[in-house]
Amino acid sequence: MAITVDEVSGEINYNKIIDEFGVSKIDNVVKELSKVTELSMLYRRGIIFAHRDLNVIIDAIKNHKKFAVVTGANPSGSLHFGNKLFVDQAKFYQENGADVFIPISNDESYVFNKVKTIDEATKNAYEYVIPTLIALGLKKGKTHIFVSTKCRDIYELSVRLSKRATFSMMKDIFGFTNESSPGKIFYGVVETAHILFPQIERFGGPKPVVVPIGIDQDPYMRLSRDIAVKEGFVKPSSTYHKFIRGLTGAKMSGSKPNSAIFLTDAPEVAEKKIMRAITGGGGTIKEHREHGGNPDVCSVYDYFKMHLVHDDAKLKKIYDECRSGKRTCGECKREAAELMKKFLINFHEKFEKAKDEVDDYLIHER
Ligand code: SF4
Repeated sequence: MAITVDEVSGEINYNKIIDEFGVSKIDNVVKELSKVTELSMLYRRGIIFAHRDLNVIIDAIKNHKKFAVVTGANPSGSLHFGNKLFVDQAKFYQENGADVFIPISNDESYVFNKVKTIDEATKNAYEYVIPTLIALGLKKGKTHIFVSTKCRDIYELSVRLSKRATFSMMKDIFGFTNESSPGKIFYGVVETAHILFPQIERFGGPKPVVVPIGIDQDPYMRLSRDIAVKEGFVKPSSTYHKFIRGLTGAKMSGSKPNSAIFLTDAPEVAEKKIMRAITGGGGTIKEHREHGGNPDVCSVYDYFKMHLVHDDAKLKKIYDECRSGKRTCGECKREAAELMKKFLINFHEKFEKAKDEVDDYLIHER
């Protein structure tokens, strides 16, 4: 297993991640969270597996204190269902009183070579990524979106925070070498500015902030928490969710179109991807009927569990029927494909409307 800001590879062992990254198991705080609000399915189903200081956010919800969520989006391509998990978390906190801040990191897309030009990432941000975020249901007036290189406050905050880091710190946290570009090194500070942004005077000063973030991006959290204390901000909290399996058996990746379903995929394209997916089923129908399948390693089941089935009893039925061999992979895929097509038809209607609402969600220059 290798997990860095540049790469995720190998079999993922979540218990090992908790030890290696020094994060806390979510089980320790889920009970407390359930006392102050109704848990979303991401919490009920153990999809969110770890956190840092989530108790600070639970206290904010309980005592009706102002708090914020920051979760970024990379505009190197269309968003997929792995990215949707971040938005689902942001919506959960928004329903519990948070203001949501979404930096669109066109700078990251460029310095990490995910696009050829910054303009390509910027265009994609306005034409696809922001309408997607709006169509996923984030609330107007409580959602503040900005494109990183277009936001003067982010540049000023990045310059300010840069004095709190040294090259030696950046090397320790990110593993930079003499070959690393200054762009990647400075981007570490820019992402810290994204994370601490809701705490600047313009938005009412220091406050609790929670960052749903991929465990591969955790080095940015470590830097942000370190710098926050030195700058008089509240140390940001974070949550980490499990990766959704790739449909092709390989890791899901935005750069491998068949491994993921994109929110911009036509319903028929998504259907084809599901029908060809690698599952946890037996080698033959006879074997599957006799021994059952394994939903715990099945990419189709991941879609049911993380996105398509909201009713816990229905999900349990799918799980049990798979285990007993009552449900075959063919039937199961057809069911998933139908649910997915329904979701996408509805989503695409919202996406078209959202194109006219982009300006209402953007943070404007002062
Ligand atoms: Fe996956 Fe469904 Fe097959 Fe079970 S029956 S392995 S959940 S596709």
